[in-house]
Amino acid sequence: MKPGHTVVLVEFSNGRLFSVVTMNIEGHYDHYDFVWCKRDKTFLWHRSGGSFYMEWGQNDYWLVKWHKKPKDGGGKKVTGERLKKMPKKYPLDDLFIGTNGVNDEAEFCGKCKDWLPSGDPCQHQERSN
Ligand SMILES: [Zn+2]
Repeated sequence: MKPGHTVVLVEFSNGRLFSVVTMNIEGHYDHYDFVWCKRDKTFLWHRSGGSFYMEWGQNDYWLVKWHKKPKDGGGKKVTGERLKKMPKKYPLDDLFIGTNGVNDEAEFCGKCKDWLPSGDPCQHQERSN
């Protein structure tokens, strides 16, 4: 996340951080995907788009009070629960920094059953860079 960006939407899948949308001072959005890497015990996050939406409308979400309701990326109605507060384990200020995340694309390994950073994959995967 760049300076001057505010988190406006956080999506959860089964209680896990799933995607985050930020907005800059000009009103432009960035949509980030989050997956958990078991090996490295960290989130891998990656900017996947430039608009305001949820991946899955049935997921629970947190939304800043002043913002309009999210859209479902697949065009369905958003039916998930709107959380009043962010879960304590995901403080907003820490979503993109420190031990809470690494900025890298994630690739799933079926053998490890884990998401791994493309810059530092497991032995079953080939480096993409
Ligand atoms: Zn593997």
